[in-house]
Amino acid sequence: MLETTRTYVARITNHRQVRDDLDQCGFSASKLWNVGRYYIQQRWDDDGEIPDEAELKSELKHHERYSDLHSQSSQRVLEELAEAFTSWFDSDDDANPPGYRKYGDDHPRSTVTWKQNGIRHDTKHGQLRLSKGFNLRESRSDFILAEYETRPDVEVENIQQARAVWNGDEWELHLVCRKQIPVENAPGDKTAGIDLGISNYLAIDFEGGSPELYPGNTLKQDKHYFTREEYQTEGEKGPSRRAQKARRKLSRRKDHFLHTLSKHIVKRCVEEGVEKIAVGDLTGIREDENGDSRNWGASGNKKLHGWEFARFTRLLEYKAEERGILVDWVDEENTSKTCSCCGQIRDANRVERGLYVCSSCETTMNADVNGAVNIRRKITQSPPAGDISNGCLAQPGVFLFDRESGRFTPREQGACKP
Ligand SMILES: [Zn+2]
Repeated sequence: MLETTRTYVARITNHRQVRDDLDQCGFSASKLWNVGRYYIQQRWDDDGEIPDEAELKSELKHHERYSDLHSQSSQRVLEELAEAFTSWFDSDDDANPPGYRKYGDDHPRSTVTWKQNGIRHDTKHGQLRLSKGFNLRESRSDFILAEYETRPDVEVENIQQARAVWNGDEWELHLVCRKQIPVENAPGDKTAGIDLGISNYLAIDFEGGSPELYPGNTLKQDKHYFTREEYQTEGEKGPSRRAQKARRKLSRRKDHFLHTLSKHIVKRCVEEGVEKIAVGDLTGIREDENGDSRNWGASGNKKLHGWEFARFTRLLEYKAEERGILVDWVDEENTSKTCSCCGQIRDANRVERGLYVCSSCETTMNADVNGAVNIRRKITQSPPAGDISNGCLAQPGVFLFDRESGRFTPREQGACKP
């Protein structure tokens, strides 16, 4: 058995009853964020230092806003703030520091996190009691009773953490659960590397096999599936009913696509006798052992944007684990700059229209495939010349997503449409 955490997205079925309470919590989280942000500014202006997480917690725990939420929820807000500053401080670009969460006099609905002490879970009835902070208890009650539903194949137990996330239309719950999963023997001992390219393709390279390319642009196309009118109409009370429907439909299509893709990739890995899948770690994108999401980092944003990276890799991870395949996170450094043919890392090497051109050996190849080969080699460690036939000049097999059948089908090389 392997112990791991899984995050399940749950729909709140009694949304109308809990919405006001969750709104209050979400606004409170924004207010506490701002209190912390202000404190950081003062410290910074006074002595040029950015206080860390521990200082924020100990200095602000008696602040009035701290008691709006359950203490663990408030702690989490300050942790997020400290993490946002660390990530900003570590990033090379001149991005602005994390800002205040405020629009004029209004506050956005921040994500609210409950940890174990703030959660009572009734597995039988699919109910969660989420504790309110002292200030919000008032006359009503001291907890929010949310009823939820998840995908039918999901069993929610051992909740470590619950997050209420405002998705633009409504609140949803992200439930982080500890899980024991049976481990099968790996289908082989090979390694595969995956690069989630910014050119909207996913490239996978198999050790001793040929690289393959999968489209990610289906998601992009889908955005055009609905007219702007249908999708984006905002009334005074938020998006119109029609827009909500269109958004839900789009999100179901997206879900289906990501599920199908991750399933297909795992199937291919089983066929190729893969033991480990190397995936580029976009600066701590994964959740830590408590299921707290870390910062995305500036470099990841571009990829994330097109790919729903976190969601895809989460699906991949648990579908792979079930087949005994480990998803291994590797440092992405230089994987896009290195030539997978000759091993040269040069700034002169360039990427144009998705093609990588090496200035040393003059090889031209698909940039995402080049990235996938380099990511795989972070684990296999074989020198470029060692498996030169692989990835290097090989034509990647290109797959297409067939909407009708909902499957990925190989595109014949050089085949013309009749
Ligand atoms: Zn080269």
